[in-house]
Amino acid sequence: MENKKTNQEEIQFKMLLIGEQAVGKSSLINQYVEGKFELNLLCAAGLDLKKKMITVNNKQVKLMIYDSAGHERYRGLAKNQLHTTKGILIVYDVTERSSFDALTFWLKSYKENAESGSVCLVIGNKIDLKDKRVVSTEEGKNIAQQYGVHFIETSAKDAINVEEAFLNVAKEIMDKENENNNKKNVNKRKENKENNACCIFF
Ligand code: GDP
Ligand code: MG
Repeated sequence: MENKKTNQEEIQFKMLLIGEQAVGKSSLINQYVEGKFELNLLCAAGLDLKKKMITVNNKQVKLMIYDSAGHERYRGLAKNQLHTTKGILIVYDVTERSSFDALTFWLKSYKENAESGSVCLVIGNKIDLKDKRVVSTEEGKNIAQQYGVHFIETSAKDAINVEEAFLNVAKEIMDKENENNNKKNVNKRKENKENNACCIFF
């Protein structure tokens, strides 16, 4: 009985990492969930799921983090996931221009398929490779702004901004849900008031 109650009260946010192959999607998730960086992570075949409990605004939230394989043939698969996902993290590699160029494909997919109330964050990863950087911070910021989404730069290797990336997305999902609930409550109160008004007249 008690278990059931806990389950009912459990808040779950589904997140999905998309982007080209080898930009560091699996490494970011591994760093965030396991707290480590491994050189030879197994390739995700299609979709992989990792879970993590976190606290957002004093509430326990279970993050369901889906890792997608960036290969062309899996693009459709990630796309299908978009409309059931609250947090979308689109990753590119700051040392690989082609992964940045592919952002427009993923951002358009997001705009076309995302559910309302979802949150999108563009992540420029591998900033520890300073000498190899070919995409500037400004370029990343600009494209994110153009599509009205958030932006952050990370290093899965050195654990820079990894926690922040996931946490900020979770916080914003929570804020949006609260906002929505408040709106619903206001509407309900309005409805009740209107109904009451009817009662007076009849
Ligand atoms: P995915 O295909 O997007 O899941 O990319 P992976 O997580 O498998 O990473 C691809 C390669 O980039 C691997 O060799 C990783 O070790 C490396 N990598 C991932 N993130 C970083 C990072 O932040 N810094 C550096 N230097 N290498 C990284
Ligand atoms: Mg991977």
